[in-house]
Amino acid sequence: MRKKIVAGNWKMNKTAEEALILASEVANMVKDEVSTDVTVVIASPSLYLSTLTKYAEPVVNLGISAQNCHQKASGAYTGEISAPMLKSIGVEYVILGHSERRQYFGETNEQLAEKVNISLENGLTPIFCCGESLEQRNAPGYLEFVASQLTDSLFHLSVEDFGKVVIAYEPIWAIGTGVTASSDQAQEMHAFLRAHVATKYGQEVADNTSILYGGSCNEKNAPELFSREDIDGGLIGGASLKSREFVNIAKSF
Ligand code: PGA
Repeated sequence: MRKKIVAGNWKMNKTAEEALILASEVANMVKDEVSTDVTVVIASPSLYLSTLTKYAEPVVNLGISAQNCHQKASGAYTGEISAPMLKSIGVEYVILGHSERRQYFGETNEQLAEKVNISLENGLTPIFCCGESLEQRNAPGYLEFVASQLTDSLFHLSVEDFGKVVIAYEPIWAIGTGVTASSDQAQEMHAFLRAHVATKYGQEVADNTSILYGGSCNEKNAPELFSREDIDGGLIGGASLKSREFVNIAKSF
């Protein structure tokens, strides 16, 4: 059985004080209200991760994620943060390949394959993002384009390692735009990606892979999205900045 996961991607938002308030509200609500069948993840700016792991520790189904890591373990990379560093402060997850990092920081599929490797070597769970632009969506081959992102960055992994990866499908045209993918559009892509995983790793591995949807997901549209067969949760941006709404999304299964 694959895991249900709702992850909040705070991006570059919140001061220290605001971050602590939001994280403590989320931790309390998750403890009191969210079924332990659902794993909730907070991906905060790296500055707050160390403190947030302490908030998450007593809550069994709450984990903390970074939003990126460097592909090398250490070295002369000013301003960067490595997977061993994240592991050493109790971080469990790392978002990799978010479209904003691909677009603004030029991350390539090859570089992401390295980031996936170093994350897994250090016991972090990658939340690997994929997704197409509006232009690609309106042309033939958009399903294959997204599948190729998985091929290029993940399909070198052993079955065992692939089994540790969480996938997040985030159509770029739906991120931060208020235009969510319809549940039919999301389901179509999720089923396609699962079938693609099955061609490489077999049906059992594919059936156990959590595939999250992201892009203007909120408390109103989450119940319908999460009711679809191949949608195993969400990667939530804007709506994760409000504790009540974020936790309501985690209760939408
Ligand atoms: P959004 O962002 O929910 O604000 O659209 C999702 C994401 O980028 O992860």
